[in-house]
Amino acid sequence: MCRQLLAAFFYIENVVKYKMEGGMTLEKVVLVRYAEIGLKGRNRGYFESKLIENIRKIVKPPEINKRYGRIVIRLKEQLFEEIEDKLKYVFGIQNYSFAYAVVHDIEKIKKAAFELMKLNLKQQKTFKVETKRSFKQFPMKSQEMSAYIGAYLLEQFPQLKVDVHNPEITVGIEIKEKEVFVFIDKKKLYGGLPVGVSGKALLLLSGGIDSPVAGWYMLKRGVNIETISFLSPPFTTEKSVKKILDLANILANYVPDSLRAWIVPFTEIQQYIKNNVPDRYSLIVQRRSMMRIANKLAAKIKAKALITGENVGQVASQTLTNLHSIENVSKLPVLRPLIGFDKTEIVNKSKEIGTYEISILPYIDSCVAFAPKNPATSSSINKLEVIESKLKKLSTLEETVFEKIKKYVIGRNV
Ligand code: ATP
Ligand code: MG
Repeated sequence: MCRQLLAAFFYIENVVKYKMEGGMTLEKVVLVRYAEIGLKGRNRGYFESKLIENIRKIVKPPEINKRYGRIVIRLKEQLFEEIEDKLKYVFGIQNYSFAYAVVHDIEKIKKAAFELMKLNLKQQKTFKVETKRSFKQFPMKSQEMSAYIGAYLLEQFPQLKVDVHNPEITVGIEIKEKEVFVFIDKKKLYGGLPVGVSGKALLLLSGGIDSPVAGWYMLKRGVNIETISFLSPPFTTEKSVKKILDLANILANYVPDSLRAWIVPFTEIQQYIKNNVPDRYSLIVQRRSMMRIANKLAAKIKAKALITGENVGQVASQTLTNLHSIENVSKLPVLRPLIGFDKTEIVNKSKEIGTYEISILPYIDSCVAFAPKNPATSSSINKLEVIESKLKKLSTLEETVFEKIKKYVIGRNV
């Protein structure tokens, strides 16, 4: 420690020489870090610009810059809290810090560290300073900077002690080519990938607990979504439509542009199936019909996959054989991000993202109104094909229903 301090004081001379122009005001910024997308090799530039584009659209910051490995939001007159509230909707961000941005000037770095400590110090007793120097021409090495600022803070706040292993406060300093960032505290976000980098998929959004959570997980992996919901008017009312749109609206928070929610009036098909299919198979035949319609819409909107909230073994429609029978009519891959989740995990996630309270409202989606009493838990694809071959009107009905799909555009940019 002592040697480091000496070295720090020795280097300080050079640093003072290095001092640049500028007043003593400290600029407030948000320092945004992204982990996974930093690892993407040649695609890195694409991921970074998508992340910046999404921050622009979702957070609408006054100014934003890219600094190697970091994104910097310049707060100007904007409040940090306002930015913070919206940042949580940007997938691809690993964590962020409120920070002061200063030029390569040790006096300013000291001032920034002092102000931050003043702002954050309550009952804490221990701290450390951690420096990262990616700009190697800066004359002071990381260790030396940490030791120097640490010594300065000890002098200013005599109640504090240094604890490098388990500090209550960590003062971070990042020395970049164009500027230096000083901060305390990193706030974790969800990580994931910027929405849009993984293409687009169509989410089968029911009014239940699972499908909104499934959509959230795919958004987190960078997949943009549109939603399709099958309702049965007049058995379902406008309240069911509102419920679906409220759920879609929560997901739309994470979408940089607007989200399109498609609502299918499914009643005619359900009635036809109910009247012409043995009760035990009616649910699976309905689901296959939903799949065909969803595939047709996906082709129209250029979605590359379907997403469902399906989960092995929860209900009759979700046994392995029935999952297979349902997806068998889909040309597109069916993504099921919740497939291995426990119900409690799904419920907890839906509470966390705010869809739970809407999902438990009593307004039904289509399936409840036409649910068979004892749905088959196992269905052979051959058997289903035989049943469907007798449903002469089914494909015409699917065409008719497709023409009647209603589109709702939701989100911040509408
Ligand atoms: P959820 O909670 O999402 O409704 P669930 O546990 O009730 O799921 P099912 O009713 O078997 O399970 O539905 C499985 C999946 O099929 C849903 O997660 C959803 O993706 C899709 N789905 C079911 N009904 C509809 C519907 N009416 N409109 C759109 N998609 C639906
Ligand atoms: Mg359901």
